[in-house]
Amino acid sequence: MTDRTHGFTNSPTELTIDLDALADNWRLLRDRAAPGFASAVVKADGYGLGAGPVVKALAEAGCRLFFAAHLEESIRVRAALSEAGYGLDHAVGVLNGLLPGEARVMAQHDLFPVLNDLGQIEAWQRFCASVETILPAAVQTDSGMCRLGLPWQEVKVLSEDISRLDGIEMRYLMSHMACADEPDDPKNREQLTAFADQAASLPKPTGGAMLAASSASFLGPEWHFDGIRPGAAIYGVQPNAVERPMKPVVQLDARIVQMRDIDKPQTVGYGAGYRADGPRRIATVAVGYADGYLRSASSKASAMLHGQRIAMAGRVSMDLLTFDVTDVPQAQLGDAITLLGSDYGVNELADDAGTIGYEILTGLGPRYKRRYVSNRDGGAA
Ligand SMILES: *Cc1c(COP(=O)(O)O)cnc(C)c1O
Repeated sequence: MTDRTHGFTNSPTELTIDLDALADNWRLLRDRAAPGFASAVVKADGYGLGAGPVVKALAEAGCRLFFAAHLEESIRVRAALSEAGYGLDHAVGVLNGLLPGEARVMAQHDLFPVLNDLGQIEAWQRFCASVETILPAAVQTDSGMCRLGLPWQEVKVLSEDISRLDGIEMRYLMSHMACADEPDDPKNREQLTAFADQAASLPKPTGGAMLAASSASFLGPEWHFDGIRPGAAIYGVQPNAVERPMKPVVQLDARIVQMRDIDKPQTVGYGAGYRADGPRRIATVAVGYADGYLRSASSKASAMLHGQRIAMAGRVSMDLLTFDVTDVPQAQLGDAITLLGSDYGVNELADDAGTIGYEILTGLGPRYKRRYVSNRDGGAA
């Protein structure tokens, strides 16, 4: 994404979400998955970017299968699809499973559950019987994550009595990888083998078997099975430490709200976290940890100003950040510092904050003025 000019109406910060880059990232993943299919994980409000616009842009790009985590957010995904004119050939799955009492609500909203244990399979079967309709569901097995999905023992029970699936359309069989962002981790092949064995012991799903999320989509075609289930990569998180094919989707700009010239030795910010021994210029912007800018990035993060990289000076406060702009002489009050963009983005800030891009994205705060852009439809969405 080329860094954009900003509007900043009544707001010191602006978060720009590039829906074209988002769609391009999804298409890149879809092409990797071919001849299999690509779905899209849009949980946590589209990884913090806004499920409504994200779902619409992905559906326009050709995505027909979506996953969210909670029932409530899956209902919102269905609503976003309907609002954009997409109907039941666009499916929405609920990753976290089927809790007691949820079956009717799921069916009412045309969602399908990801069934994570034998009890959930039985509950869905009972519900399908009660409404005399064969309804779709995904069955998730645990291939080594020990989080959600049927453990080995339950897969065995199911494979020995497949009548437990009678009256249900098992559309997808899926599992989730633990270490796919480390391509050399031996666990990747262990899980591949485990899932292949599980799939071989169970009936063939009508829609296909899926193992790979973003990172595993880059391990090789063996991990793709019939389709992939990426989330983070769609939003610009790189799949591992080496491959960097994803386009940045977010740009975060913050105006300088105060400039300060330091002329004698001085410290900056809480804990006197930065020390200027000679003359320095410090710029302050109105973003802080209350906006999801992680405090662990204190004194480590960078940003861009007038095309130059600048370094954070001192600690992240609740509402403010300070940068050393001594080497950018033209910097002045009101100028925009790009905290996240194409030169220094989600992946770089995550590294500097000691976390992953996922946490940076899903933490993007409610005070940012959000702007969705798409050149394909000729302007702001
Ligand atoms: C979150 C999630 C995904 C997407 O993972 P990414 O690493 O963001 O691509 C896929 N499948 C399941 C079960 C998930 O929980």
